[in-house]
Amino acid sequence: MLQKFKRNFSIIAHIDHGKSTIADRLLQVTGTVSERDMKAQVLDSMDLEREKGITIKAQAVTLYYDAKDGNRYELNLIDTPGHVDFIYEVSRSLAACEGAILVVDAAQGVEAQTLANVYLALENDLEVVPVINKIDLPAADVDKVKNEIEDVIGLPADDAVLTSAKAGIGIEELLEAIIERIPAPEHQEEGPLKALIFDSHFDDYRGVITYVRVLDGCIKKGDKIKIWSTGKELEILECGVFSPVMKSTGELSSGSVGYIITGVKTIQDTQVGDTITHAKKPCAEPLQGYRPAQSMVYAGLYPISTDDYSDLRDALEKLQLNDASLSFVPETSLALGFGFRCGFLGLLHMEIIVERLRREYNIDLISTSPSVEYRVHMENGSSYTIDNPCEFPEAGSGKKAVEEPFIKGNILVPKDYVGNVMELCQEKRGVFIDMNYIDENRAMITYELPLAEIVIDFYDKLKSRTRGYASFEYEMIGYKESKLVKVDILVSGNPVDAFSFISHADHASSRGRAICEKLKEIIPRQQFEIPIQAALGAKIIARETIRAFRKNVTAKCYGGDITRKKKLLEKQKEGKKRMKQIGNVEIPQEAFVSVLKLN
Ligand code: GDP
Ligand code: MG
Repeated sequence: MLQKFKRNFSIIAHIDHGKSTIADRLLQVTGTVSERDMKAQVLDSMDLEREKGITIKAQAVTLYYDAKDGNRYELNLIDTPGHVDFIYEVSRSLAACEGAILVVDAAQGVEAQTLANVYLALENDLEVVPVINKIDLPAADVDKVKNEIEDVIGLPADDAVLTSAKAGIGIEELLEAIIERIPAPEHQEEGPLKALIFDSHFDDYRGVITYVRVLDGCIKKGDKIKIWSTGKELEILECGVFSPVMKSTGELSSGSVGYIITGVKTIQDTQVGDTITHAKKPCAEPLQGYRPAQSMVYAGLYPISTDDYSDLRDALEKLQLNDASLSFVPETSLALGFGFRCGFLGLLHMEIIVERLRREYNIDLISTSPSVEYRVHMENGSSYTIDNPCEFPEAGSGKKAVEEPFIKGNILVPKDYVGNVMELCQEKRGVFIDMNYIDENRAMITYELPLAEIVIDFYDKLKSRTRGYASFEYEMIGYKESKLVKVDILVSGNPVDAFSFISHADHASSRGRAICEKLKEIIPRQQFEIPIQAALGAKIIARETIRAFRKNVTAKCYGGDITRKKKLLEKQKEGKKRMKQIGNVEIPQEAFVSVLKLN
């Protein structure tokens, strides 16, 4: 097909504004999916994605549309992840498009997440087509949303397409708008091959499936290709399009989107953002802006039962097959034994991985406090990075300064909650940058904040203090020096490394105290007294004591009822399974979890 009959676009939307429903409608109206196979949200295939209502990986689908002008068009819809954790993947997917559909809920209006993605689209020179969805809702206010699109985003909204994805209204109009307004790709049809890798996944039967957007030239089955960043040469065993399941076409021409299979073993060999060209006749230069996805948050994952260690490793390897942004290396903890230090894109990413390990692989886990990556500068001029509190330099080791990563966060919130948001940001060591009212009701507040403060519970707190009305998005802005210290937690005099954390000096005592108090609640009394302390080096900054427990659980049974006694002992044993023995003290699994939620 000629390039002038191709359109490549993605859909940008705040969560719940109707992206998946619109995508489903487009598939349905173009006959890509038969009525019979139509299940809600075809694009969100992973169970967890459906449940959490988020798209984790980018997906692509090719639709064929017979337009009013009598021509048949190839439309490539590239779905993008909706959460800030996956912003790198969003920007790569957008780079594979010429246009984007911006979906805004007619009753909710523009949200912070929408803005972040629109800016990304504009940076990528995409033509943005505004769509106002859910016009069937009684609370829909199309004029108000049009004004917001113009005032807040700065896009002309007069020609916004009005849809109800639910009722199937405006879908033909949307398809026509895509063809009229989104430019066709314009590349060298005959030139040396240049293609962008924008996603990849591992298929149990077919191996690595690499998603590509062809710019110049053409990919054919049997071609010898080269991956730019590694120089690795591979053969195209199969190529084709998603419609929506994989359909081999033997060829992907200039301007098209589809998949290739090359027999590589892991997705690390075809990383998102990299360039593909022909081995024999390569293009002159690669596409701009490739960098491997980067972990932002690190935590140790430990099996509750040491028997599960090798299962955990196998499971992480399997998950990594499909997720190049998950990293892990073996690690040992005095408290927790053998486990893995894992790197994640963000806290949501971590939650998803932990959840999948539990659910799909049946592994009971303890995770240590998530940490960001710190930079340590020494007196002697050397410097290094650490992502584990245990590596924090002790006093007297010649440490000069420690830097931590900062983000710039934009929070969009109704004016009644501005005070609460600012208070929260201050608590989290935020530095106020700016505030603008985007309409008479809502303000956009900008703060610089340490990433470490964001990764724990910022988002939950923000939601609860604004009754769910705030939306939040952030970008990394680099490293800055902070007054940081390591706090250790001692149980019965033994430091439990899994509880150690790095904190700003001003918050060290209060956080140490909060953890001691929490542990006092959670660790059951035992036959002896258990001191719980927080320490800064040798200095104790907080202390709680768990009193000794005298009674035996079976004491009440006067030696009489033997079955009852057995039952009690059974119950106690059950409880023990989910405990971790630290020195002579047993700490329940939930202690590790609840400590993470404190600050
Ligand atoms: P996404 O998070 O942007 O992918 O949003 P979804 O497509 O999952 O939609 C979120 C919710 O809004 C779902 O319950 C949809 O059924 C509903 N929804 C989507 N489009 C419309 C619409 O046009 N009208 C109404 N009333 N509800 C809609
Ligand atoms: Mg969705």
